[in-house]
Amino acid sequence: MSETQLAASINGHLPYPNQNLQNTIRIRGARQHNLKNIDLDLPRDRLIVFTGVSGSGKSSLAFDTIFAEGQRRYVESLSAYARQFLGQMDKPDVESIEGLSPAISIDQKSTSHNPRSTVGTVTEIYDYLRLLFGRAGEPHCPICDRCIAPQTIDEMVDRVMELGDRTRFQILAPVVRGKKGTHKKLLSSLASGGFVRVRIDGEVRELSDSIELDKNTTHTIEVVIDRLVKKDGIQERLVDSLATCLKLSEGIAVILFTPASDSTQPSTDEQELIFSENFACPEHGAVMEELSPRLFSFNSPYGACPNCHGIGSLRRFSVELVVPDPEAPVYAAIAPWSEKDNSYYLELLYSLGQAYGFELQTSWNKLTEEQRQIILHGEEITSETQRKQVFRGVIPILQRQYEGGSELIKQKLEQYLIDQPCPVCDGKRLKPEALAVRLGQYRILDLTGVSIAECRERIDNLKLSDRAYRIADLVLREIRARLQFLLDVGLDYLTLDRPAMTLSGGEAQRIRLATQIGSGLTGVLYVLDEPSIGLHQRDNGRLLRTLTKLRDLGNTLIVVEHDEETIRAADYIVDIGPGAGIHGGNIIAQGDLKALLEAEASLTGAYLSGRRVIQTPAQRREGNGLSLVIKNAHRNNLRNIDVEIPLGKLVTVTGVSGSGKSTLINELLYPALQHHLFRKVPFPKEMDGIKGLNTIDKAIVIDQSPIGRTPRSNPATYTGVFDVIRDVFSATIEAKARGYKPGQFSFNVKGGRCEACSGQGVNVIEMNFLPDVYVQCEVCKGARYNRETLQVKYKDKSIADVLNMTVEEALEFFQNIPKAVTRLQTLVDVGLGYIHLGQPATTLSGGEAQRVKLATELSRRATGKTLYLIDEPTTGLSFYDVHKLLDVLQRLVDKGNSILVIEHNLDVIRCADWVIDLGPEGGDKGGEIIAIGTPEEVAENPKSYTGQYLKQVLQQYPPVAVTNGSK
Ligand code: ADP
Ligand code: ADP
Ligand code: ZN
Ligand code: ZN
Repeated sequence: MSETQLAASINGHLPYPNQNLQNTIRIRGARQHNLKNIDLDLPRDRLIVFTGVSGSGKSSLAFDTIFAEGQRRYVESLSAYARQFLGQMDKPDVESIEGLSPAISIDQKSTSHNPRSTVGTVTEIYDYLRLLFGRAGEPHCPICDRCIAPQTIDEMVDRVMELGDRTRFQILAPVVRGKKGTHKKLLSSLASGGFVRVRIDGEVRELSDSIELDKNTTHTIEVVIDRLVKKDGIQERLVDSLATCLKLSEGIAVILFTPASDSTQPSTDEQELIFSENFACPEHGAVMEELSPRLFSFNSPYGACPNCHGIGSLRRFSVELVVPDPEAPVYAAIAPWSEKDNSYYLELLYSLGQAYGFELQTSWNKLTEEQRQIILHGEEITSETQRKQVFRGVIPILQRQYEGGSELIKQKLEQYLIDQPCPVCDGKRLKPEALAVRLGQYRILDLTGVSIAECRERIDNLKLSDRAYRIADLVLREIRARLQFLLDVGLDYLTLDRPAMTLSGGEAQRIRLATQIGSGLTGVLYVLDEPSIGLHQRDNGRLLRTLTKLRDLGNTLIVVEHDEETIRAADYIVDIGPGAGIHGGNIIAQGDLKALLEAEASLTGAYLSGRRVIQTPAQRREGNGLSLVIKNAHRNNLRNIDVEIPLGKLVTVTGVSGSGKSTLINELLYPALQHHLFRKVPFPKEMDGIKGLNTIDKAIVIDQSPIGRTPRSNPATYTGVFDVIRDVFSATIEAKARGYKPGQFSFNVKGGRCEACSGQGVNVIEMNFLPDVYVQCEVCKGARYNRETLQVKYKDKSIADVLNMTVEEALEFFQNIPKAVTRLQTLVDVGLGYIHLGQPATTLSGGEAQRVKLATELSRRATGKTLYLIDEPTTGLSFYDVHKLLDVLQRLVDKGNSILVIEHNLDVIRCADWVIDLGPEGGDKGGEIIAIGTPEEVAENPKSYTGQYLKQVLQQYPPVAVTNGSK
């Protein structure tokens, strides 16, 4: 331990300010995005937490300034040659940063899209397992599971000499194994080679006899090489005979013997010993190459299942997706063919119906099985049908369109494809030979297909031979350490063979965190984005210990985090704010926890010190008496559970990570609702049904995905306020005089927009190798409109001026336009008063996008039959934002809607009307309902982890009978 580390461990944190340059990261003049030209000194080798409300500038400082500069300098240090591939990185808007080390960012965004990545490969544990199995594994026959070991002639002789004295035996060389034919040539060449007897299909015959074999049945032919009686002194002859035998049979020798018995009766049951000098099963052949790590790689042709090339699944058109609603009439049943312009397909189906006796109006499930098969898979080609045009079938037609189609067609057809497990390897990705190899008592899948917790136990209890142990020892230590890191970050329920693509953002982030510890790097600056996302309070402590471990290795950690426990555990805290956007971008507090608690202007400090409080409501809603009941859910780890979800309430679904929350809500309930409402997707199979679906007429997922994929969408277009604004402009006297309609003020259609940039305000310049560059349009100077349109003013402002306003400014500006006011006011209500109306959708943070969606929902008229599904809405939100969010959610429920939230945040859970807690643990130890009821009821349930924490927070924030509004 270094002296400063020692001092730190005594004091709890580094004495500050520290003038020693080497121990400080000095940032001067940071102005990226909304940062207000800030100066900041950060202690190195410490755990630093950035706090502040959403949109205050934490990421702009941590990722877009500090990390970006570290990354840029690293790239600069590379050769010019390497640089041209990496692309030029923009210098962040900052005067200077000193004391920066190589930077690594660990965020939630960069989840893998490679179907070949698994938890095992990204953590490198799988590479170690391959090494282990390749060096210390024992090959087994994939068919009979017999241990396969190549034997030397000496070993064979030793084994034969173990037979009882005077045992008679024959040495046989198998030359044909189960092959059709008369084998005439072979037999005559054996005879001329001096051999006398052969055993054919178990019967010994003389080669001098004329042997006629049936050419249409399979035969096994073994040449009798020698006949001997076991006694001392035969060893030399045995060696010679075995050598002859192995040469003839290419490595296999069969010893056929009748065990000597004491009884006077001659024993008749013959027995066999089979020897092989190859890596081959003597019985089933199955030749193996010598074991090596590459045999266990599904990314290498040596190891991969040849059918799926190691992907484990095949993409196929799914009949259920292609025909989502079997009750629909034939002309509308085939989803990819029921678009506007489908007369060609209708004619095809019509003439098919003429030939096979069905009408286009017949409903799909009234067709005969044969008719359905013909529509889907085509007519059989017989000599009769050949001359007519043969219908190839919907699925083959789609298949061909997909394979030969443009990106656009591929994209459109994607929705009808599903991944089915490869029928050859059953999703196991590897060749059978690889799957059969054992290390101690386990095959490789016995380690990768079980939870990480179980895998760790199996590794600990591995029974190895001395030789294998000596080879494996070091590798086993690496594996154990890495598994432990994964356990430390709360991922005990994952399996190593889980595809990385299917992980949630939080899981992927924590895996990368665990991997970093394994890498043992020191002197690195890690920048992390809310590592606590997706993690239950119970596992937070372990995560924190992982972070401090990374620090103690000699690294600096900058963590953007809203979790109270993490903030309290930090060595150093920087609070950015006070507000969001233009109201933020300043350093409000820096130093230890006390500094934060005492900072008057800090909203985070206000909540942590209790100056501001999110009140627990005293009244839990009764709901509207209706409910949804999911019957017998059994997808992933769910244990055939029935779940009742009351409606007209704010309901939270809780439970430790991996307990089954997303499976229940996102993979079962949501698709079922989609099926019920739109028939677009099949009803999920892994449950028996849902009672009460008819009480829902709208299901809306409100997630943190962008509100639009292009810079053409923005908060104004998404919320619909832009329609109102365009009406206002077209109603001006100036516009009327010129005959302008609302379309004139759209930047998405020709007319009023600037055609030089098609209304984008910028032009995209595509660069080879380099990222696209956006440059301001020279003609409109970023205004997006042509000069004529900009001449139309409302209260002295042009349409472009309005797009540049913040929501707050616009609210004031349009105060006389009620339709605009309602929409703008809800944006202010959800805490987005600071965003610009025209801010491109692509630059909004996930939390901001989510709140734009919530605001839009709030301004709709409620039907009382809408169910909102929200997955961890507190991601990226500070206490203050959570407070605002809760207000919005409560208002949505007050309007008669139902909300279902998956959440770990205890402030949300304690303010809910109803809690459904899954567990008790993650993975195969979860999947059950542990507690269900009001927060108070769940808090009294000792079996529920959530309940334990809920009990504490309910004591800390006892229910208060006031409305839950921000102070
Ligand atoms: P935080 O991390 O504290 O939530 P951010 O640093 O992401 O906040 O954002 C600070 C401000 O900068 C916000 O107003 C946000 O909308 C804005 N902003 C973020 N990224 C961009 C960008 N690429 N272009 C323009 N503005 C941005
Ligand atoms: P939660 O949402 O409570 O964190 P999940 O529903 O994501 O839990 O996971 C429940 C269980 O199902 C876990 O054991 C998880 O590993 C498993 N699981 C989830 N998604 C998949 C998937 N796509 N493939 C295989 N297993 C999965
Ligand atoms: Zn075998
Ligand atoms: Zn396969």
